[in-house]
Amino acid sequence: MSVRITDLCISCDACLDECPTSSIVDDDDNPTGEDTYYVDPATCTECIGDHETPACQAACPTDGCIVWDLPFDDANRAHYEASSVYKLGDGADNNQPSRPEISMEDREAGDVDSVVE
Ligand code: SF4
Ligand code: SF4
Repeated sequence: MSVRITDLCISCDACLDECPTSSIVDDDDNPTGEDTYYVDPATCTECIGDHETPACQAACPTDGCIVWDLPFDDANRAHYEASSVYKLGDGADNNQPSRPEISMEDREAGDVDSVVE
């Protein structure tokens, strides 16, 4: 799991240097071609071990710009519950434990602020 930057991004650059895992690239390097900053889901740790909540979201001036990559809803339940670690792919830093204590409601897009450790 990671966070995701939506098309509300205004490319202000406030998040880039806040990321402890260097997972954010600017619009010039966005692999999707979108004119927004981009989070690499293979390396984003949701700031576990570094901050209480995602640092990029805390720095972002645009409400709703940085959201969870997947809503924590019934449709994605298997994905979350099957994961003993955060990432399912081959990314290098994929050893962060999942956080089942984050409620399904808090996983809804846009509610990244509501995470309680
Ligand atoms: S949540 Fe943390 S690790 Fe993930 S992109 Fe944002 S600042 Fe980087
Ligand atoms: S802080 Fe928010 S608006 Fe600014 S570049 Fe990052 S994601 Fe985009």
